[in-house]
Amino acid sequence: MGNLAVIGMDWGDEGKGKIIDLLMPRFDIVARYSGGANAGHTVSNGGKDYSLHSLPSGVFEESKRLLIGNGFLLALSAYGDKDGLLQEIERMNRVVSLHGRLYVADGAHVILPHHIEADSQGSGVGSTKRGIGPSAEAKANRTGVRVGDLIGIRDHDDYLALRERILRRYDVKDVLKTLYEQRAFLEKLIDGFGVKIVNASKFLNAAFREGSNVLFEGSQGTMLDIDHGTYPTVTSTNSTAGGIYTGLGIPPKQVDQVIGVAKATESRVGDGPFPTEDSYFNVYREGWNEFGATTRRPRRLGWRDGAQLKYAARLNGVDYIALTCLDRLGDVPDRLKICVGYKIDGRETDEWPTGFRDQTVAKPIYRDLDGWHGQDISSARDFNDLPKAAQNYVRELEKEADCYIGMISVGKERGDIIQV
Ligand code: GDP
Repeated sequence: MGNLAVIGMDWGDEGKGKIIDLLMPRFDIVARYSGGANAGHTVSNGGKDYSLHSLPSGVFEESKRLLIGNGFLLALSAYGDKDGLLQEIERMNRVVSLHGRLYVADGAHVILPHHIEADSQGSGVGSTKRGIGPSAEAKANRTGVRVGDLIGIRDHDDYLALRERILRRYDVKDVLKTLYEQRAFLEKLIDGFGVKIVNASKFLNAAFREGSNVLFEGSQGTMLDIDHGTYPTVTSTNSTAGGIYTGLGIPPKQVDQVIGVAKATESRVGDGPFPTEDSYFNVYREGWNEFGATTRRPRRLGWRDGAQLKYAARLNGVDYIALTCLDRLGDVPDRLKICVGYKIDGRETDEWPTGFRDQTVAKPIYRDLDGWHGQDISSARDFNDLPKAAQNYVRELEKEADCYIGMISVGKERGDIIQV
């Protein structure tokens, strides 16, 4: 056993939710380490779908403790039509109690109204308008307000000091009113909903010592990481494995295993490089429900890129890949393709290019493979149950990714899985 990270290898929406759901019984704590309320995930329970943004997976398992880490950018309450943590908890409490099992890091930065307003004036490309970019900016330019700052307020001078911090850079009105409100939201979370504010590092290290097993829940995906993704069309935080250590305050040796989740065809929401994008897949968008969970924007679709997978596997130290949605390729009547490298300015390479310009002009080099059109593979439970063409597809991809594929998801349901 031990502690495990589940990380998306693409641009998010790889099906991490399903893999996490499957692994959940083995873990005591689920911790989110990066991102913010921009990353939506859907959990199904009792035939109903719940769209969550801030709460970690595992809400329906009453024995699990949930941690929102200091690397997470947190909206405490609703602003405009965007829910915050309070509303998510209120909604979930109607079906399952979160009382006493949700922990929030005192180092998490709070998304403030002026961050959301700056976002709605159109800051980032592909932004979800939830204030994530501006709040990350505030974190970096030292005008951010953390959960611990609000908790630490003892008297009026403390409010004034926080106001001063914000006004140093931003010309915003009603700062004191905002701070009173945010403090009141936090009090409601603590007194009304039993949320506990902790130092994430201390909390987790105590949990490790007791022998608890922790699942580190990645959000978005590797290719959206601010350092290693397709900069500048990226998110504001480190979604790769590196984000776990800073986003929770734990040492690298505590991550025992990393599973990388990748889809058999790729998708991306919003602008930015995507070499294998192909309008060939547009006819499948409705059937495959390829629309953003948070924004409902249609996702761009394309062929599986093996070279990019190799990059993501190396970057995260992926022990094995969980390949999802392999069943969908049975819809495709033609020969299948996997990308094995790129042509950039006439030069061939099998390495993912790390500069934006090269990522934008890279032309994929494909290997064609036989498909398995019309065959429903969703009942396969053993690798040998798969059609030979599907086995070959997985093996070829493994070779290109230079990483073992240890799990294959062949349908939406929890049990639709092959453990290789
Ligand atoms: P996440 O953000 O990475 O968790 O990804 P999403 O929540 O957007 O998941 C992608 C969607 O694909 C969800 O609706 C899943 O139910 C669905 N899904 C996951 N794995 C499979 C699979 O193997 N086959 C099919 N057909 N759908 C899947």
